[in-house]
Amino acid sequence: MKAEEKENREFNRHFPKSISQGIKDYVTDTVLKDSRYIFIRRVAGVQFGYCTHCNNRFRTTGDLKHNNSTKCPHCRSNCKIKNHGMSRKYLSDQAFVVYYEKSRINPDTAIIAQAYKVYRNYSGDYMKVETEYVAVARYLFESGNPGRATMYERWGGWQKAQSVHSLWAQSSCSNCRCSMDSIKEAIQGTPFQYSTWDQHPQPQPDYIKFFALYSKYPVVEILTKVGFKYFVGAKLFDQKTYSCINWRAKRFHEVLRLSKQDLNLVLKGMKGLNPMQLRLFQMSRKDSAPPTLQEIKSFFTKSVGDVLNELNVVLKYSSLRKAVNYIRKQIRICETYRTCSALLIAWRDYIRDCETLELDLSHDLILYPKNLYEEHQRTMSLVKTKIDEISRKKMLKRADDLQKYAFEDQRYIIRPPGNADEIIEEGKTLNHCVARYADSHAKGKTTILFIRLKDKPESPYYTMEIRKNEITQTRGFKNSDMTDEVKQFVDQFKKTKLTKRSNRKEVAI
Ligand SMILES: [Zn+2]
Repeated sequence: MKAEEKENREFNRHFPKSISQGIKDYVTDTVLKDSRYIFIRRVAGVQFGYCTHCNNRFRTTGDLKHNNSTKCPHCRSNCKIKNHGMSRKYLSDQAFVVYYEKSRINPDTAIIAQAYKVYRNYSGDYMKVETEYVAVARYLFESGNPGRATMYERWGGWQKAQSVHSLWAQSSCSNCRCSMDSIKEAIQGTPFQYSTWDQHPQPQPDYIKFFALYSKYPVVEILTKVGFKYFVGAKLFDQKTYSCINWRAKRFHEVLRLSKQDLNLVLKGMKGLNPMQLRLFQMSRKDSAPPTLQEIKSFFTKSVGDVLNELNVVLKYSSLRKAVNYIRKQIRICETYRTCSALLIAWRDYIRDCETLELDLSHDLILYPKNLYEEHQRTMSLVKTKIDEISRKKMLKRADDLQKYAFEDQRYIIRPPGNADEIIEEGKTLNHCVARYADSHAKGKTTILFIRLKDKPESPYYTMEIRKNEITQTRGFKNSDMTDEVKQFVDQFKKTKLTKRSNRKEVAI
C-alpha cells in the first residue's frame, strides 16, 4: 500500500498543482464557446440583459427575444438570449477535454495529458455560474530507455490503470475535444517532437494511444519516416502486423528482423511492398535458396490475397521457393484448385492430415504429393477412420451444447452436426475437407455448423466453421464460396447469434 502511495505521489509531481490557465482559456474560448448566454428581464418596462461570459449587466435596446442570438455589447461574444423567467432546470453545457502540457519536473523528456469533464450549469443562479472541472484521467508519457506511459483514472479515487487508454469514446459526451495546440506546445523541445504523431490521424483524436505507443517504442518514428507507417497504424488499432516488427529491438535492421544487407534490399524494393510479402521475405532468409524480394512480390500479388496463415503451416516443412514451385505445378495439375489460396488451403489441410496420421513430412514424396487433390482425398478418408468412439460420444454432447447456434429464415437453416458421421458425410457430399475438423469439433476446439436449404434439410449445402465466436470459413461444394443470398443469410446469423455477450464463451469440453 505504501509503495503504491509513493508511486502515486511521484506520478502527481509531474502535474501542475492547479488547473493551468492554458486549459481554462482553451475551455472558455474554444470548447465551451457556445455556452454564453444573455439573460433578459424587464424592470418597470425597461429591458435589461446580463451576460454570463463577462458578467456585465446592461440596458438593452429593448427588443431582445428569447432563444435568438445577439452580440454582448461589452465583450462582443455571440450569445444566446434566454428569458430570466424561463425554466433553466436543464440548461447546462458540458464537454470532454484532453489537454497536454510539459511535465513539471522533467519538461525536457516527459509530457503529461489530462482529461476533464467540464460543465457550465445554469439551473441555479445564472449570475454565479462558474465552469466546473472534473478531472477523469491523468497521463504521463516519459521518453527514455526504456520509456513508458502511465495513466491514472478516477474511479471514486485515483487508480492506476492497467493499460493506458483513451476515455474519449466512453465519455458519452457529444462535445469531445483535444487541443492540438497544447500537443504542439508540450512536445516542443522533447523527444516527442519527432514522434511523427501528426502523421497518424486518430479516430479519437486525443493521441493518447499514439503517445503511449511511442513512449514504449520510439522506433515508431523511424518506421513512419522510412515508409513502414502501416505497421504503426496496425499496432495502434489492433490490426495485423504479421509479426513483421520486433518492437523492442534497438537497431533498425533488428526491428525489421533482417540482416543489414537484407534491410538494404527491402529499402530499395519498398515500392508496392505489402506486409505479407515483407514477412515472407523475412521468413525465407534462412532457406538454402531463398527467393529474391522481387520474386516474392511478383508471385504473392494482391490477387493471391492473405495466405500467411496457410503458408505458416506449409513453411514448417518446406522452403518458400519449393512451396511456390509446388503451388505453381499443382494449380496446373489439379483442376479443383484454380487459385493459389484454394490450393494452399487444401495443402495445409493435407499437411495437418499427415500430422494427425503421423506421416513423415520430412520426405518430399509425402510433403509434395504428385497430385495433391487425390492424395488429400486419401488422407481425409484415413483421418475419418481415426475418429474414435470417444470423440463420437463427445460429439453427441457438443450437438446438445451447440443448439444455441440453431438459426433459420424462410429459405435456410443453420444447425450443429448431430454426430461425427454427419460431418464426414458433409465432407464427402460437398467434396471438401470438413471431415478433418471432426476431431477438433468434438473436442470443442472449433465449431462446425451446417447450412441447409429449408426444403432439403438432409442435403449438405454449405459448411461453416466458427472459432472464438467468429466465422472463420464458410464453404460449399468443392470449397466454393458463398452465393450472395447465402452470404446475406450468414450475415443475419452473425448479427443474431455471434454478437451477443452470452455466446462469447466457447464451451471447452
Ligand atoms: Zn459579455
